[in-house]
Amino acid sequence: LPTRAREALAIIEAAGGEAWCVGGCVRDALLGRPVHDVDIAASLPWPVTQAAFREAGWSTVETGVAHGTLTVISEGEPFEITTYRCDGTYSDGRHPDAVTPAATIQEDLRRRDFTINALAYHPERGIIDPFGGIADMEAGLLRCVGDPATRFEEDALRILRGCRFASQLGCAIEPATFEAMVASKYLLQKVSGERVYHELERFFCGEYVHDALMATVDVLAFVLPELVAMKGCPQVTPYHIYDVLEHTAFVLQHTPPTPLGRWVALFHDMGKPAAAFFEERDGRSVEHFYGHPWISANLAEGIMHRLPFPAWLRRDVPPLVHRHDDEVAPTPRAVRRALARLGGRADLFEALCDIKRADALSQAPFCAPRAEGAERLRELLHEVLAAGDAFTMKQLAIGGDDVMALGVEAGPEVGRILQACLDAVIDGTLPNERAALLAFAREQRDA
Ligand code: ATP
Ligand code: MG
Repeated sequence: LPTRAREALAIIEAAGGEAWCVGGCVRDALLGRPVHDVDIAASLPWPVTQAAFREAGWSTVETGVAHGTLTVISEGEPFEITTYRCDGTYSDGRHPDAVTPAATIQEDLRRRDFTINALAYHPERGIIDPFGGIADMEAGLLRCVGDPATRFEEDALRILRGCRFASQLGCAIEPATFEAMVASKYLLQKVSGERVYHELERFFCGEYVHDALMATVDVLAFVLPELVAMKGCPQVTPYHIYDVLEHTAFVLQHTPPTPLGRWVALFHDMGKPAAAFFEERDGRSVEHFYGHPWISANLAEGIMHRLPFPAWLRRDVPPLVHRHDDEVAPTPRAVRRALARLGGRADLFEALCDIKRADALSQAPFCAPRAEGAERLRELLHEVLAAGDAFTMKQLAIGGDDVMALGVEAGPEVGRILQACLDAVIDGTLPNERAALLAFAREQRDA
């Protein structure tokens, strides 16, 4: 337990209260996973807690005092302290109508969503585990505290949290809990777009995303209906050994767990069901997927518009989805060209290498060498960057002013001439040097 968390417990207890570390930090510590934040449950009402921490020289922020939550901060390290509570009814399926203070930690643990999250720890008093959370953890099971259908009716977000924990922790969902998740999935319409987006992103960035996606697709399809057609879409091509959904699950699993990489992986083949075209060949039905990356990029844009994705993902994901299948030859010239198509963004080129590699690894075994091809592209990228090669107009040794000084009027012609210079530099037929570029620009002007 971090020293500061220990101190926080001691401050509450010196003020006459009782305090425990609860929730995700206890779960993650027991699972041997990194603990990212320590939440504390305390018997004191928040104003008393606040006074005690102020006296001890900590700063406090009233982050959720309506629900009894106060954030206390020492040397930049924040802890959330929540007064023991039992949540009342949830008539909107989102927020408890009222939060009632609870007398004991046991009562407080009862309101929590899953048994593995309903654990409390204190350095002297040990662990409290009223619902068998440790046994479930050992069995790798995610189980609701109490009756699952009731718990999902109270708060439908728990359905998505359940999927997300399956993906992050690699646990199986206990059958009665899973049955209730499927039966209650229509309640997800009450969950705000922000929360759906947030939980989905954590789901797709999970360490066990392949298994979790295959297990929970029928639940996730309520918020991502595009998954339904992927599940039904066979791929009888020489390259594919799985249907579109399972192929996507493998690609996700083979992609580094960053939001950009995983969203591109999810979307990369989403347009295939719409693009599929069947043909009899040698007495066998064969699919073609002409134009699917473009359809996939469109579907990605639609989803990113429907759910409140941040602007940077809306900007960076669709071009990568659109370009993921473009052939990039293993030459510096082809790499510079591909970089230029991605607006000169080396990070996007890296993400392109990631999707190409994962895609190859998720196809038939004879495609595996293409994964090495993607690694070769990554090496070439680093060579191109180290060499200082130009692949954007900004990097050219001349600019618009220089072209206008040759007597070209301001306007589209300036852009055309600079583009011709850049194309020649990218192709390696012209050095990125002032004199050579000016001579070439003069030829272009007179052409
Ligand atoms: P992580 O922080 O890794 O995402 P966590 O389990 O700590 O996981 P938080 O959202 O930080 O999740 O919530 C802290 C604790 O509060 C949970 O462990 C759980 O006990 C409880 N909790 C959070 N959200 C809910 C909910 N919607 N319904 C019931 N209990 C919840
Ligand atoms: Mg947490």
